Amino acid sequence: MICLKLSEENFEYDVRGLLTSFYPGTEIVLGDVEELLPGDRCLRVDYGETEIRVRLLTGTEEKEALASADTSDRKTAKSVLKRLVYGLLSEDTGKRLPWGTLTGIRPTKIPMAMLEEGTSEEAILSYMEETYLTGREKINLSIEIAKREREVLRNIDYGDGYSLYIGIPFCPTTCLYCSFTSYPISKWASRMEEYLEALFKEIDYTKKAFARKKLNTVYIGGGTPTTLTPDQLDRLLSKVEESFDFSYLQEWTVEAGRPDSVTEEKLRVLKAHPVSRISINPQTMKAETLRLIGRKHSPEQIEEAYAMARAAGLDNINMDLILGLPEETIEDVRFTMERLYAMAPESITVHSLAVKRAARLNTMKELYAHLKFENTGEMMDLTADYCRRLGLNPYYLYRQKNMAGNFENVGYAKPGREGIYNILIMEEKQTIAALGAGSTTKAVFPNGRIERCDNVKDVALYIEKIDEMIRRKKHLFGL
Ligand code: SF4
Repeated sequence: MICLKLSEENFEYDVRGLLTSFYPGTEIVLGDVEELLPGDRCLRVDYGETEIRVRLLTGTEEKEALASADTSDRKTAKSVLKRLVYGLLSEDTGKRLPWGTLTGIRPTKIPMAMLEEGTSEEAILSYMEETYLTGREKINLSIEIAKREREVLRNIDYGDGYSLYIGIPFCPTTCLYCSFTSYPISKWASRMEEYLEALFKEIDYTKKAFARKKLNTVYIGGGTPTTLTPDQLDRLLSKVEESFDFSYLQEWTVEAGRPDSVTEEKLRVLKAHPVSRISINPQTMKAETLRLIGRKHSPEQIEEAYAMARAAGLDNINMDLILGLPEETIEDVRFTMERLYAMAPESITVHSLAVKRAARLNTMKELYAHLKFENTGEMMDLTADYCRRLGLNPYYLYRQKNMAGNFENVGYAKPGREGIYNILIMEEKQTIAALGAGSTTKAVFPNGRIERCDNVKDVALYIEKIDEMIRRKKHLFGL
């Protein structure tokens, strides 16, 4: 247990983030405790007007760090405080965090903004090292990615352009770590027509509201869109095609994530429409892990789905992986990468397992307490190495809370095959109109202000309240 005591309610979120990274899984209690048991820690932060003092107490020891800072300037105060906390925790645990004091989800935003101001790479490196104590390897990675993102987004229209997301929140089974809006298709197949009808109403509204805007990317995700029947999938894609002007379209992705939902007929449907990119997601190629995480398909089904997609003529295939899955070792990761290397997809997205609150892995954690979940720098390096050998360059990166090993998610792609929508959703510079249950629309206004509006997650409620979902969008966009 760690108790955290702040003299003012400033930066609790940031300090908590560092505590969680240094002591993963340890309970954090706000305020004082009467007695520290062996292994417990207490972190105390005192703000003066011109200095910040941080103390770390164990039952027997006290360590202190102190620095001058103008605490009326929030940005400076936060930066100084995080460095002080980092120093004490690093000394206590003997660990260094690859990203240093950076706890946010988009570390590439920093080099991106600095590159846009014309700052040299040398200066960015020094700044990130000194300010955030980030390791050189991660700084270089984030600069490389920021440069590539700028290149990929160079033709995106932020003022007049927008992107479209359509969610199909159904899957063959629910994965252990899933925190997305996803329902078993077996329970909802009988109401799919009603779902599509509601979705089509949202499409009709969006078509009218955005008639004067330029559609840059379309992403159909979920869930697993290929849980739709071939006929339903065809009608959905036709509806999108008929409703929007594709003159400015740069990418149309459809997720075919679960190989147990993929058939030749559905792949032919995708190919019959101008879908430019699909995703077939193994997560791992180890059969035992697939069983443990509740994906009731075999590694061979992944290879079959991939081969079918190639035979259907789909020439931009992404594959998602997760590191830190239960009981997986570096040899298992090597085995997965060998099989992916043989398939040679155009892009690979490597995730570090992040257990969110709603995931079964969290809500039923006692059931899985005996399993080991570990991601290491070695595993990250191994996947990066295989991707480079496949000619795939890192092009987007984001971090999440509670990530195994405190690492990051990285997308690698062949030049020209990057997932543009993936970058857009991270960069938050373009409006994304999101349709379907559980989706979140993001409006980016000309002054950079961002506002969101959610659709309800519950499918029955979404169908029932579709007019209300549309009203929310009308209110947000004023259209
Ligand atoms: S395939 Fe994706 S959306 Fe579906 S249950 Fe698994 S993690 Fe969730």
